[in-house]
Amino acid sequence: MSNYSKIRQDLTNQKLIVVSKKRSIEQIQQYYLMGERCFGENRAEELIDKAKQLPQDIEWHFIGHLQRNKVKMILPYVSYIQSVESIELVKIIDKEAQKLDKVIPILIQFNFAQEDTKSGIDKEEAITFINQCLTYPNVKVQGIMCMGPHTENTEEILAVFKEAQTYFNMLQEKFGHDMIKECSMGMSDDYLIACQCGSTMVRIGSKLFE
Ligand SMILES: *Cc1c(COP(=O)(O)O)cnc(C)c1O
Repeated sequence: MSNYSKIRQDLTNQKLIVVSKKRSIEQIQQYYLMGERCFGENRAEELIDKAKQLPQDIEWHFIGHLQRNKVKMILPYVSYIQSVESIELVKIIDKEAQKLDKVIPILIQFNFAQEDTKSGIDKEEAITFINQCLTYPNVKVQGIMCMGPHTENTEEILAVFKEAQTYFNMLQEKFGHDMIKECSMGMSDDYLIACQCGSTMVRIGSKLFE
């Protein structure tokens, strides 16, 4: 946990999502005891298994590719789905959330880095996509999520996060600041750059656990 206090100090207004994928219950408990309450997982079975064993006041964020047939099983446990990138997925989340009488906050995943290996919708599709989401009452769009490019070139990362920030601000103007609140960007290696560019949520794993 040697990086923890530095990371906590670096974060000013950003919410910290402790990315706990592949980490043990005991490792998660350490951060819980330090006061952390938001944890991120990218596999449905793993999230459920951990949620069942850990305290109820944890806010679980789903941050990975979500298969449609897994939506129903994770909904009782998740507070946020950060990685929504198709309207088919929105439809299923809405339907299953309705059965549970829940409204699920979602973030729309963008592919600003334009890397084929990364998923997410393109900027051009976003407004139509959000307008479509608005027709599903049990799904609540709260912002965007993106990943930086896979590079150590700081300038390149900065350029992608700046673009995300500009786009986030545009969506806020268009849909309102009450609705578009979260810009989830920044991971272990690039969270400081993301924070400079207006990130509201960082998702940090390896730097906290290794
Ligand atoms: C694994 C993961 C993270 C955390 O990455 P680290 O580099 O370990 O901090 C953040 N976001 C997503 C979507 C991830 O899959």
